[in-house]
Amino acid sequence: MTTSIHQLLATFDAASAGREMYAFVEKAFPICRSLTGDGVRETLRLIGETIPLAVHEVPTGTPVLDWTVPKEWNVREAWVKDPAGRKVVDFAHHNLHLLGYSVPVHRKMQLAELEEHLHSVPEQPDVIPYRTSYYKEAWGFCLPHRQRQSLPGGEYEVFIDATLESGSLSYGECFLPGKSQQEVLITAHVCHPSLANDNLSGLAVVRAMAQHLAGVERRFGYRFLFMPGTIGAITWLARNESRVGRIAHGLVAANLGDGGKFHYKRSRRGKATIDRAVEQVLSEQVLSEQVLLKSGGDFEVEDFIPFGYDERQFCSPGFDLPVGSLTRTPYGRYPEYHTSSDNLDLVLPEHLGGSLLTYLQVAVVLEGEGRYRNLSPKGEPQLGRRGLYRALGGEGSRDRELALLWVLNLSDGENSLLDVARRSGLPFAAVRGAADALVEAELLLSLDETGDSQREEETR
Ligand code: ZN
Repeated sequence: MTTSIHQLLATFDAASAGREMYAFVEKAFPICRSLTGDGVRETLRLIGETIPLAVHEVPTGTPVLDWTVPKEWNVREAWVKDPAGRKVVDFAHHNLHLLGYSVPVHRKMQLAELEEHLHSVPEQPDVIPYRTSYYKEAWGFCLPHRQRQSLPGGEYEVFIDATLESGSLSYGECFLPGKSQQEVLITAHVCHPSLANDNLSGLAVVRAMAQHLAGVERRFGYRFLFMPGTIGAITWLARNESRVGRIAHGLVAANLGDGGKFHYKRSRRGKATIDRAVEQVLSEQVLSEQVLLKSGGDFEVEDFIPFGYDERQFCSPGFDLPVGSLTRTPYGRYPEYHTSSDNLDLVLPEHLGGSLLTYLQVAVVLEGEGRYRNLSPKGEPQLGRRGLYRALGGEGSRDRELALLWVLNLSDGENSLLDVARRSGLPFAAVRGAADALVEAELLLSLDETGDSQREEETR
């Protein structure tokens, strides 16, 4: 039996959802993920335990837009032994120690030569940095700067038992069909090794969103993608070029487990419905009583720039899809970013819970958004005669009356319910409720249903 998305939100328990998402992050944290390889497959398998997930394998060498699917990388063992024969850097202790996509090597060398392959951050001497060399064949190790400085001179032994060879790129796709042919696209990248906020928090929220929306009636289809950064989105776009016209709204999810305030990066279009929906939700949260969402009691909105996560690909000019990115603290703006400090202590269940709630609130607005025409636009229609005032007695009745009048006044075919909410300052839910009551009283005609069916005709 399916319920409505409103019922889902009314009974949503963010605390328990947060604990469930955190458990997923804990489980997936130790896995060594990369652009390709068994770590990605293992992570997709974990995600597939709770949602219907199709895993696609795209062979190495496949041309995708202007790119080519790379070789597949897998690691078994990697370490550095000091002149005394002690393992001083070991992949088995932390997968960040190995430069991502390192080619195999087994050699002895002097410290001076080894130095050319070491990566550390002098400003953060106690963290292991996260580094990769995807598109240039190299090998290397990452370590705390303090440890690097203490390495004695002499002969070192370096061993990397890895394979970089023909295989495939793996990505996961979960599609929940809706009444309309139009789709909402939600994506997260699956290519980071043991990093909790940048990567796993996004996977956890997107997976949980799919899990929650699977049980509700949906106007839109929802497509959830779990793909390696950049090349994954490029691969998906190349394979689905004929279908991208169905994407009505989209969000790239990342960095959703830290305690920072929400940050929305607009789509390239800037004023797409998704842009206005997210801004509406975040504005309403500032006024909300929910402690969970009061992360600093504020939020930030930024215009599109062609830098960041996979919105770069979805918003490239040849696609120009209405896809924004909703995060907490954006990439690169927290000190733990891309270091071993982005660990299970940085991410908290309540932050994940608040993030999922926010994504679901955005879905509620998308599902409820629409344009209408006032069927009695000359003078105000008599609401009392139609029982609309009577039905609205009691608490908050003034707001509900105002919502009716605003919806009637602005429903000229141009303004949508989001426009009504913004201009009136009323919550979207109140505006949506007023529209429902007016449709029921035959004072309002939905223009989107006809619009949708026209679009569907065109695609047939
Ligand atoms: Zn990253």
